[in-house]
Amino acid sequence: MKSKVILVPCDSYEEEQVYEKIKTGISLLGGWESLIRKEEKILLKPNLVRKAEVSRAVITHPAVVGAVARLLRENGYEHLGCGDSCGVGDARKVMEGTGMDTLLDQYDVTVEDFGKASMVDDFYLARPVQEADALINLCKMKTHALERVTGGVKNLYGCISGFHKAQGHTRYPNADSFARMLIELNQKIRPRLCIMDAVVAMEGNGPTSGDPIPMNLIMIGTDPVAVDSVFCHLVHLKPELVPTNIHGERMGLGQWKEEMIQILTPDGEISMQEAVKRYGDPDYNVDRRKQRKNIWSKFRYIMKPFGKRPYIVDADCKKCGICVEACPVEGKAITFKNGRKEPPKYDYKKCIRCFCCQEMCPHKAIQVR
Ligand code: SF4
Ligand code: SF4
Repeated sequence: MKSKVILVPCDSYEEEQVYEKIKTGISLLGGWESLIRKEEKILLKPNLVRKAEVSRAVITHPAVVGAVARLLRENGYEHLGCGDSCGVGDARKVMEGTGMDTLLDQYDVTVEDFGKASMVDDFYLARPVQEADALINLCKMKTHALERVTGGVKNLYGCISGFHKAQGHTRYPNADSFARMLIELNQKIRPRLCIMDAVVAMEGNGPTSGDPIPMNLIMIGTDPVAVDSVFCHLVHLKPELVPTNIHGERMGLGQWKEEMIQILTPDGEISMQEAVKRYGDPDYNVDRRKQRKNIWSKFRYIMKPFGKRPYIVDADCKKCGICVEACPVEGKAITFKNGRKEPPKYDYKKCIRCFCCQEMCPHKAIQVR
């Protein structure tokens, strides 16, 4: 059976507009009751990677989170929570000043503590994730240094609690193994619904230091792989270049192939070509280079110096040390060499290219080349 992806044009974060657009999208998907039973405990999982001004497109926009909370309340859902395991700070702190906390309070949604967690199979899962019956994935359309893009599948990595997130990178040190782990995590959690905030997306040095770019869309589906695949098409990136798409299909999570995706809009069903024509952006800044598939790709250790790596733009560095704290490698692959008089330095022999430092730098001082 084909996976449905709903595309609803939305050109601003004006709260009433976002509410109406998501309402339309959910009805195209069959309505709330076809997705979640009234008595179920629901957890909203936005992308709250770290504190940043809303206009920078780092986090899921509060208007999207607020609209979903309002719709659930209006449709009679009683048990609502919201949370994320943020890279820096807790969810309440990341929400402060964005308006998200106010909206959640307005709709009586509990902000959950993802610091409480325990092992479930191979994952150190936040308690609220374990206790929820239905998770709604409120992801953001962004670029990502390791996986090229972060959307539906990757957003669930925030269900892993605290430092275990960083440690996961040492266990799954490349895009391929990390993607397989993400698929297993999605299979464990089985999110009920995925709503992607693509009204203003992030391009370039994502997922936290890139540039906002209007895509004027809200994307909705139950298959996060299909949602991510449509995202790829819209930004002219071959979906097969994103490892979570390939493994997502192979491991039975969802569909990435065009012929297995049905696109619906408020004007009816359209083809992928038509969707790209109407809503796509060929200039969206994302890594479109093909992966090496020659003999050298088998020798990752030898090829490491030629692959992507992070570097610090010294003039932008505020010497805060957050990148050093974020590095999951034992003994650190990035350290201050001379107190804090100079920006930290990389030890590229130790560096596993997880890009946690680039993701956590609050001053856009770390780039990838
Ligand atoms: S996190 Fe960014 S600003 Fe802070 S020390 Fe590292 S590179 Fe510099
Ligand atoms: S230096 Fe940065 S990219 Fe390298 S291992 Fe540490 S956090 Fe990951």
